Amino acid sequence: MTTVGMKPRVLTVLGATGTIGVNTLDVVARHPGRFEVFALTGATQVERMLGQCRIHHPRFAVMSEPAAAAALRARVAEEGLTVEVLEGAAALIEVATAPEVDTLMAAIVGAAGLPATLAAAQAGKRILLANKETLVVSGQLFMDAIAASGAELLPIDSEHNAIFQALPRDFNGDFLQAGVKALWLTASGGPFRTLSAAAIAAATPAQAVAHPNWVMGKKISVDSASLMNKGLEVIEARWLFNARPEQIKVVVHPQSIVHSMVEYADGSVIAQMGTPDMRTPIAYALGFPERIEAGVSALDLMGRQLTFEAPDTARFPCLQLAFDALAAGGNAAAVLNAANEVAVARFLDGAVAFSAIAASIAHTLDTLAGGAADTLDDLLEADRQARSVAATYLEAR
Ligand code: NDP
Ligand code: MG
Repeated sequence: MTTVGMKPRVLTVLGATGTIGVNTLDVVARHPGRFEVFALTGATQVERMLGQCRIHHPRFAVMSEPAAAAALRARVAEEGLTVEVLEGAAALIEVATAPEVDTLMAAIVGAAGLPATLAAAQAGKRILLANKETLVVSGQLFMDAIAASGAELLPIDSEHNAIFQALPRDFNGDFLQAGVKALWLTASGGPFRTLSAAAIAAATPAQAVAHPNWVMGKKISVDSASLMNKGLEVIEARWLFNARPEQIKVVVHPQSIVHSMVEYADGSVIAQMGTPDMRTPIAYALGFPERIEAGVSALDLMGRQLTFEAPDTARFPCLQLAFDALAAGGNAAAVLNAANEVAVARFLDGAVAFSAIAASIAHTLDTLAGGAADTLDDLLEADRQARSVAATYLEAR
């Protein structure tokens, strides 16, 4: 396809140094002239950011960690690159909302991505949303901001991207009008799908991050092992598609070929399939509404078995906790998310057992759910309190 005469999309990538960020820049590099990189952001990985600056020549490179920004500034000067290095959380908001930018890839991990992503929603950008925690924490607020500004929201999470592709293009959140009965989120089941409860309780960080089908950052890999990732995705689907909780179903599909499905009133079920490679949903959203080359190997179904089974919430209580938080409403999802982030970090540090993740989230929800969630300040306060309650609980274990 020719891109001659086409105005490039001007892109900021939040979380450029992470797994989604790297995949995004891989797709961007396949389409010279189609995208112009305005800003890249990272937290700690200086050399990776430097390499990305060499290739993509952004105007700005932001490191949220000041020490990393100082190191990057020195390296940029040594190499004579023209990029301007900024630091801190405020700079993330600046490069996400700059008037030159039309498209934002939101791929910071965790609630740390919320302020800049929400600011871009308020500023009316096209948002490619990988950072699911933003929607989990601030769902109503975020969707209200999108509606008020006329921003465009394209899901990157493979399941939600699949559902987006399988819904009518003009879907407006009205299930009845569109004849949609249910959204089916597929789950790989993660690395512990077939383990006993006792084996799961004793699992190590190395086992938890060894995902069978996807290469991802550490936090989401642990979330996949606990099925909290699917729980967060249920909440994400609720907001993205205006679904009621009972309209969102989860089915375990260990091969990760069917990325999710939409069930219609006439009995039709429309699925999106593909090789498990995040460059597919990334390319879909980068090129939308056009289909562009993603570098993904073709799906070969010959001789493949596709299987489906019910999720087991007894061995994977995190999935149930997410449904519970969704039903509770208010600040519960923000509390769930923050408690999970703390517990996963402790687990990755080797400080607590895998089973402590679900236990600490349940404890934190019991302690804090039910508080106000009307403003961003309410949500940030719920996040702060939940981190403190979860940390105290885990300290005592
Ligand atoms: P990674 O851990 O690989 O990358 C996270 C990125 O965020 C890095 O650029 C990191 O910087 C940056 N970062 C970390 N902490 C902060 C902070 N406090 N402030 C600013 N930036 C920070 O994660 P993934 O790419 O795997 O995931 C990113 C998001 O996308 C998550 O929300 C995840 O749930 C979602 N997602 C990921 C999928 C995947 O396949 N990986 C699939 C679907 C959704 P640095 O590395 O420089 O320290
Ligand atoms: Mg997903």
